[in-house]
Amino acid sequence: MKYKLCEWEDNGYHDSYFYGVYYDTDDGLMHSCGLGATAYGGGVSPAWQECQYPSLEIVERARLLLADHIFTVIRAAEHSDVMDPEDAKVGEVLQLLVPHTRQLKKVIPCHRCMGKCYWQNPRDPKDRRKCFACDGTGAFAKGDAIRDANGKISRETIPEGTRLTTLKVIAYGSFYRKGYNKPGRENRTVTGRTDAGDVISIPLKKLRLARDPMSDSELRERAATLSHDHQYGAMFGCRAWLSDNYAAAAVAKAKAAA
Ligand SMILES: [Zn+2]
Repeated sequence: MKYKLCEWEDNGYHDSYFYGVYYDTDDGLMHSCGLGATAYGGGVSPAWQECQYPSLEIVERARLLLADHIFTVIRAAEHSDVMDPEDAKVGEVLQLLVPHTRQLKKVIPCHRCMGKCYWQNPRDPKDRRKCFACDGTGAFAKGDAIRDANGKISRETIPEGTRLTTLKVIAYGSFYRKGYNKPGRENRTVTGRTDAGDVISIPLKKLRLARDPMSDSELRERAATLSHDHQYGAMFGCRAWLSDNYAAAAVAKAKAAA
């Protein structure tokens, strides 16, 4: 037996196409089918013509499948947000995925605070704030490269796993609102402070979030909550509002009767 769950309209530039999702007890799965288009007459799938309105029991079977699907999607998104973030926010803690080697440069004292690291309100002795210019580091690492006795540039390797609290994120390159070149993991650089207090800049592609991804049980719980919206179209590429949600209607009807 087949039971209809929802339908929607995909409005194209010239024509609209209609789709539906049904649950089939023969294979215990959901399927989508075409319900016609303005481009041609007819086109309602024979499967859809067989469909009945769903009972609560059928809706619940479909909802469990939807929850599994949502879990798979949000689990992948959560893991990529943590392991390959596309951006970072000020204050967010990141962690080096690989060691990062940098040239050591002569550190010049911050000319705002003269290396004192703080700003003192001249009218209020109690008002002392972190220097805004150097972010309280008291220094700018903007001088010439430091060289050893042989004239070779000194380098430092920051080990994998080093934690960095984000102070600033800069994207390098030209970006266009609709262009292919968008700010992201490949062209952003994060300036942050290590737990030891050093301020360093690291390409975002070498960083992950320092937190663990949400656990599978948390993600399953979230997926279960979301599945109660009965958005079955999303499993089949629907990005529009549903024109009919038979599953949600069955649940609402049962609730009203209870
Ligand atoms: Zn300063």
